Order: sequence, then C-alpha cells, then structure tokens
Amino acid sequence: MTLPRPFMLGIMILLSPAMLLAQSFSVGTAAAGPGQKATGLLQVTAGVDAGTNIPVVVVNGVKPGKVLALVSGAHGTEYTSIIAIEKLIGALDPAQVSGTVILVPLVNVASFEQKVPHVNPIDNKSMNRFYPGKADGTQTERASYVITKEIVDRCDYLIDYHGGDLDESLRPYAYWGPTGHETQDRTSKEMVLAFGLDHIIIWSERPTDPTATRYLDNTASVRGKASIVVEAGHAGTVETDDVNLLVNGTLSTMRALKMLPGEPHPIENPVWIEKLSDVIADGPGIWYPLVKRGTYVSAGMKLGTITDYVGKVIAEPRSPVSGVVLHVNAVPSLKKGDNIADLGAVAAHAP
Ligand SMILES: [Zn+2]
Repeated sequence: MTLPRPFMLGIMILLSPAMLLAQSFSVGTAAAGPGQKATGLLQVTAGVDAGTNIPVVVVNGVKPGKVLALVSGAHGTEYTSIIAIEKLIGALDPAQVSGTVILVPLVNVASFEQKVPHVNPIDNKSMNRFYPGKADGTQTERASYVITKEIVDRCDYLIDYHGGDLDESLRPYAYWGPTGHETQDRTSKEMVLAFGLDHIIIWSERPTDPTATRYLDNTASVRGKASIVVEAGHAGTVETDDVNLLVNGTLSTMRALKMLPGEPHPIENPVWIEKLSDVIADGPGIWYPLVKRGTYVSAGMKLGTITDYVGKVIAEPRSPVSGVVLHVNAVPSLKKGDNIADLGAVAAHAP
C-alpha cells in the first residue's frame, strides 16, 4: 500500500530508534515506563474457592532487551528464596538494566502468612505441581494459570527460586533441565553455570506435553524459554550466606544474559548430579539423623534411626546410592510418606 508522503514521514518518526526505546511494560496492575520500577498485583479472581492477590514488581530498563522472570515463594516458608527476591527488588536499578525484569517474590501468600510448609493451605496443593494451571480449578490451579499467561508467556528467560522448607535441611543446588533444543539448552546451561551454585542436578525425562508440565520452570522450558531452578536456605532460617548465593547468582546470570553491565562469575567444574533418590518414611515415628546436609555417603550407609513414641527402634533407613545428601529431614516428626532424605548420585561426566 502506498501512503501519501506526510503519512510515511509520520510512520518513520514513529519507528525511529529513540521511539523504540520508549516501551512501557505491564504485568498485572504493575505498569513501568522505561527506566521505571513499578509494583502491583497479579489478581487471581474467586472461583470454586477464594481469590488471592500475588505481589509483582516490574523493573523496566532504560535500554531495550530481553525479559527475565524471577519467581519465588511457591512454597511460602522457603524463606531464604523469598528474602533474596526482596533484596533484588531493592537492588535492581532500571538505569543499569537492559531489558525488563519481572519479580514475583511470593506466589504462595497463604503459606507464608499461616506458616504452612509445602502446600497452599487454601486447597492443600503444592504451588509447583499444577502448571500450566486451569482457569476454572482451585486457587492453586487458577494462580498457576495466571502465572503461565502473565509471566511465562511474556518472558524470554525464567529462574524459579526454592530452598529447604521448614522441615528440610538442604544444601544449596540448582536444577538444569535440558530439552534437546540446542540453542535453548546452551542458554539455560550458561545461566545455571553463571548462577554459580556448585552442585547442579541434570533434570531429564520431564513432562513435554505443554498442557501437563507440572513445574513452573518446565512450563517455561516447554514453551521455548530458557529456565533454571535454584535452591538455598534450610529449615526456616534466613542466613546471610544463603541469601547472598541467590542474590549474587542472579546478578551474575543477568550479566551473562547481557542484562546488566560487567562480567559474570560462572562456577568452574561444578558437581553434576545425574540421579535423585528419595528415602520415604513407611509410617510415623521419631527421626534421629546421623548425616547432615551436604554429607557424602556410600550406598548402604545408615542415614539415621527411627523410633516409635516409646523409644523402640522401628527403622534404620539407608542410602540407596553413593552420593551427596541434598537434603535431610530437619525435625524429629515423621509420618508415612514424608521425605527422610534426598540423595544425589554424581554424574561420571559433565554434560
Ligand atoms: Zn520449593
């Protein structure tokens, strides 16, 4: 279509580079112009149960670029991960950022407020198992649906933050989930190395059906967005070293993605974990651990003792593999189905 000359001039002005910089970015009720930081809410409307509001922050850089999503608090008592995102909300300066960062510090508000580990107390579901969510499901499913539409669909990269929950003594580690798509896997591997955690789990054989991805990072990966999971913190504590691992790891990853100036500090020769083995409680009892988080054990080594409530030994769980204790139950309480320990078997070769 040929336009009269004044119209063409108008379009050229509209598309000039200076104008392209001036893009505002909105997520939920948070709207940030270029060079601005805005706060708001992702609104999950009431359905079969109550609605909720999930806090969200947009840091919109002065310079154009990619969109990075940082999501924490699916498990609202994994406090270190939540506090790390709070620190980043304060620390990220839009004048320094290229592109846009979406920060969701606390997905599971009810878990945090009521101090309920592992699940959303509104519907008793884990908020990292029901992605991509359902518009007409229970609160966890509706929240997951909103996050898929508002965060996952609109980002280029995603980091999901976790840690040891109230009853988990956890050593820091990351997950890298290769998809078989070479370019995406190269980017996600660069992200996980730049983040700098020294133990990395290779998470393979994950759901590939976009309607049944279960986990947030997998939901992003299946939709073509490079994503990783990072974990630090344990058993309700907020230790400075753990918080710093997550804050500094994020900044280093942003440098690797060219969203912040400066050089990343990638980990060299991390321990790659190729297989996870859970040790599950057969029934209720009192747990007396013999190992700490991060301990390296041999297959068959006793991990601890379980007694009944009058002191009789009823079980002596042993490690099914040789490897590292990624986390171990942090409290004496055990009921049937509880995770006593999670062991990681070390890969023979780096991927
Ligand atoms: Zn978690």
